[in-house]
Amino acid sequence: MADTVSSVASGMVVALQANYLEVELDAAPDGCPVRLLCTRRTRLSHRGEAVYVGDRVCVEAIDPGQGRAVVADVEPRHSFLIRPPVANVSLVAVVLAVEQPSFDPDQASRFLLTAERTGLEVILLLTKTDLISAAALESLVARLQGWGYDPLVLSSEAGTGIDALRQRLAGAQLSVLCGPSGVGKSSLLNQLRPDLQLRTAAVSGRLQRGRHTTRHVELFPLGLSARVADTPGFNRPDLPDDPQELGVLFPELRQQLDPWPCRFRDCLHRGEPGCGVSSDWERYALYKAALIELSGLSRPFRGG
Ligand code: GDP
Ligand code: ZN
Repeated sequence: MADTVSSVASGMVVALQANYLEVELDAAPDGCPVRLLCTRRTRLSHRGEAVYVGDRVCVEAIDPGQGRAVVADVEPRHSFLIRPPVANVSLVAVVLAVEQPSFDPDQASRFLLTAERTGLEVILLLTKTDLISAAALESLVARLQGWGYDPLVLSSEAGTGIDALRQRLAGAQLSVLCGPSGVGKSSLLNQLRPDLQLRTAAVSGRLQRGRHTTRHVELFPLGLSARVADTPGFNRPDLPDDPQELGVLFPELRQQLDPWPCRFRDCLHRGEPGCGVSSDWERYALYKAALIELSGLSRPFRGG
């Protein structure tokens, strides 16, 4: 019985398992499972082409009965996140809790700077907002707005903001959630996709490992084309070598340069003549400390 379909199909790599790639097809041929377990053509390996989660691929030699196929080609990536390795991410969502664990501004900045280093769009998600008063929440939101972010206010417990989050993520093909452990990332995913709960229960061992190591990243489909990856936290920012590239990691500094660029192109915003950046912002001290770290004098970022 000829079981192998000779046609080719396109899809996205949604998980890596040992030597196999799990590929979700954009449109599956009749009677074929949407997710296929794939090996890769040897010529791909010969060309030294690695394949990552998030990669758009072309598969062939589809065996619908076994749910198997072979990855024949990888499309060029438009972005690549190194840690964890995920291709084609368009949005990085930094997840921080208001309580349990309490909001820690230094840790928050470590995550945000690392997220900004990707050069991708960054949004900030504030979770567990059911745990603090409306007044405390309002003041934290105002503080984060001063950092140049407009945080999405969320509570998985109360169901607050979940629809807004779903809409925000639906606008991006592939989003990554990152943040310290325990801030409620998995709970958010479960709210976004209640059916994931079943899956989580069914393969909990694998998912648990997946969440806490950098080797296993799995993408969760959120709708037609949106997907989200729950990634292990990156707590230690990888600051740029060039001090000139530091400022762009602070949105509140970027915003000041917009209307009034500095007189000198190589301005580091430390009171140089004609500088368009004021010193009146909360994270200015952090910015200056990071500049000093770049010149090798001290290490304010010791996050682990
Ligand atoms: P993760 O490590 O970031 O994936 O965090 P989890 O989703 O596993 O959540 C950690 C703990 O926080 C769990 O005990 C959750 O029940 C709790 N939690 C998650 N979201 C909320 C929330 O919105 N409100 C409250 N009060 N607790 C939450
Ligand atoms: Zn300046």
